[in-house]
Amino acid sequence: MMDHGFGNWATIHALRNADRVAYVDGPEGVETTYAQLEERTNRLADALRTKGVAPGDRVALLCLNSPQMMEIYLAVAKLGAISVPVNFRLHPDEIAYVLGDSGASLLFVSTAFLPAATQALENETSVRETIRVPALAERVAGEGGDYEPLLASGAPERVVAEVGHDDVCVIMYTSGTTGRPKGAMLTHGNFFYNAINAMGFASGIGRTDVTISAAPLFHIGALGVHTLPFLLVGGSVVVIEAFAPDQWVEAAARHHVTQAFLVPAMWAAVAASPALETADLSSLRLAISGGAPCPLPVISAMRGHGVAFTEGFGMTETSPNAACLQPEDVVEHAGSVGRPVAFMDFRILDEMDQDVPQGEVGELCLRGPSIFVGYWNRPEATQEAIRDGWFHTGDMARVDAEGFYSLVDRKKDMVITGGENVYPIEVEQVLYGHPDVVEVAVIGVPDDTWGEIVTAVVVRTDGSTLTTDELRDWARERIAHFKAPRRVTFIDELPRNATGKILKRELRVSEGGGDASVSR
Ligand code: ATP
Ligand code: MG
Repeated sequence: MMDHGFGNWATIHALRNADRVAYVDGPEGVETTYAQLEERTNRLADALRTKGVAPGDRVALLCLNSPQMMEIYLAVAKLGAISVPVNFRLHPDEIAYVLGDSGASLLFVSTAFLPAATQALENETSVRETIRVPALAERVAGEGGDYEPLLASGAPERVVAEVGHDDVCVIMYTSGTTGRPKGAMLTHGNFFYNAINAMGFASGIGRTDVTISAAPLFHIGALGVHTLPFLLVGGSVVVIEAFAPDQWVEAAARHHVTQAFLVPAMWAAVAASPALETADLSSLRLAISGGAPCPLPVISAMRGHGVAFTEGFGMTETSPNAACLQPEDVVEHAGSVGRPVAFMDFRILDEMDQDVPQGEVGELCLRGPSIFVGYWNRPEATQEAIRDGWFHTGDMARVDAEGFYSLVDRKKDMVITGGENVYPIEVEQVLYGHPDVVEVAVIGVPDDTWGEIVTAVVVRTDGSTLTTDELRDWARERIAHFKAPRRVTFIDELPRNATGKILKRELRVSEGGGDASVSR
């Protein structure tokens, strides 16, 4: 008998700390102990097995955050099957793409997303059954959807399958910023080492710690930075259905949350929340941000409330923890993503896969036991990404003499103009400094003379009369002339994907370059 999967992480605590609270459902706090969690996930696993779910089968989740969503991840893992979480902000056609690409046979869907699911399933054939998961309000009213009856139909005995570290347990789709979302295949071993990596920087989490899961659990940040590591150590997870800053602050205070993860936009909302002025967050030992750079004023505001704050860098493909700053370095090394986590090797390579000299920019390449094993159904993309055992991240980076890494930009977004490399983020930062600029994206547009020309797509403040020449002069006074935009287009709004990241591939098309469906 062998089961090294995360489906059994809670089992350990059901035996040793049966009455310890595993999770709390929503801000009002209905608690489930480890013993109850173990019984519920065994029942669900058994019921799914009866439905024919076998090792390697895909089970999709189109769900709001809920304890049930965590149970599904665990039960599917117990069977040696594979969870496919789906971003609920996707368009129904995109949902259909993920369902079809993964070949999921079952779909768990929150009541709120039934219309989107119905639309997605019109053109999609692999899903043979949909199971409705009740919303928080329905759970409070004692309404269990299809979920509770299904669970009740399963047996409570421990379910044991042949599950090893190398088995895939989650296919998580990337955000689709640079091209179509790719299904990163993550293994039980990936999540185990990721949890160890998370513990290494999350100041010694243990069974008395409490976290709050408010970022969406279909995303690797919410699942991998906090939720799963807390189940491994036997801590408690407060699950929040949908993030709202005041409610988050109140729940964090009420449940004496000790460590928490959110993405930068959520931290910004928390930092601006009136509830923060009066709430007692003295138990919060560490706040972690990741997924995108966190603005310094947000970090300072949280620190002003006595909260130690840190930032990490990660990707879907790295489960996700890859690098982090220590709280004491966050201000002094602002702009850096810190040093590698314990079980992760970093290299910065040039086009020929040779190491660049320290301080120079190249592609960030990673190696370690928490790195994905490949993209589902995409052998070519896998071969291109993992070469010689090193995962080529597509992020350009440099490292300083003390070993702090900084991300410069994405390789696909780099502009080559007149033979010079321009990293758009550097130009954007300068343009953001102009008082009339609300939002800006810098891209390269093909040009016969220059190869590409630096083009800024800008959203101006209401009533602004800012011109191309004025903006170009602003840039030329602050950075090298070849980096300043030669062309400026003013628009009302920048296109973004379901995670809120700007879609430069769409801008390149509207500005007269490339094909949006093909990543460069
Ligand atoms: P796709 O791979 O489909 O184009 P994506 O790369 O945006 O989408 P994710 O895996 O969600 O999908 O995001 C990982 C990327 O997010 C990293 O490669 C990096 O560019 C960016 N990122 C993550 N953390 C940080 C951070 N702390 N600072 C800056 N950028 C970050
Ligand atoms: Mg990516």
